[in-house]
Amino acid sequence: MNDLTPHNFLADDTKIPFYQPVGNECALFEYAYQHQLPLLIKGPTGCGKTRFVAHMAARLMRPLITVACHDDLTSADLVGRHLIGDGQTLWSDGPLTRAVRQGGICYLDEIVEARKDTTVVLHPLTDDRRILPIERTGEELQAPEEFMLVVSYNPGYQNLLKNLKPSTRQRFIAIQFDYPAAAQEQQILMAESGIDSDMARRLVHLANQFRQLRHHDLEEAASTRLLVYAATLIQAGCDPVMACKAAMAEPLSDDADTIAALYEVIKASFGK
Ligand code: ADP
Repeated sequence: MNDLTPHNFLADDTKIPFYQPVGNECALFEYAYQHQLPLLIKGPTGCGKTRFVAHMAARLMRPLITVACHDDLTSADLVGRHLIGDGQTLWSDGPLTRAVRQGGICYLDEIVEARKDTTVVLHPLTDDRRILPIERTGEELQAPEEFMLVVSYNPGYQNLLKNLKPSTRQRFIAIQFDYPAAAQEQQILMAESGIDSDMARRLVHLANQFRQLRHHDLEEAASTRLLVYAATLIQAGCDPVMACKAAMAEPLSDDADTIAALYEVIKASFGK
């Protein structure tokens, strides 16, 4: 039988998702939480932003409500709407309203993807008023002290149409994330997949070789997430060359020449 025990939970029963700190981000998050300051996390995809927020929410014992923003997401999706059923109209809270009512942490992932009208509801929540006006019901919720708003975005995807307005950005304290330093990334791979330190070191070295190609041949660098995938395949018995090609080359590009070049680097690292 497969061992389905997640490696990413602490051995005791606290169920705090494993997170390897890379700097002073945990302390900064706690200060922000204690002083009701909203937080903006910037950084490339797969570098640990979501895991960090999940870890901090569990540590602070607050419910976490995550919204993956997309280009159709409106303020009504966040705040709520009237639903019609059984001949009556019922109000249904959206995720942001639920988080405010529960005193939870609301995490809006890739906030720049959301429609511009969402800023209308975020602004009064992100200054010292800390209120959520629900236009359609006439209610105005005062956020409890425990409520915290966290948003993230990937500046690499930025274009002129998809950018946070300065008037929105300046309502948050901000942390820049990047891929962890080699020693920390090795620890993450070992904790997440169970591979040994030598294999973790070799995988991180390979990823860092690929990352140097960023902006040249590759739009996106190999993320920590992809490294964890490669490590998981290897730990399951998959040949390292096959695992690295599937997890660290193919997802990065559709260009045959680029894949072939990455494959050569993989074979040089792991080939017999
Ligand atoms: P993002 O939200 O930045 O796209 P995630 O938080 O989903 O990225 O991270 C992707 C995966 O990488 C996680 O599921 C986890 O396995 C691993 N990871 C990245 N950084 C860390 C870290 N500092 N500590 C623990 N795991 C990490």
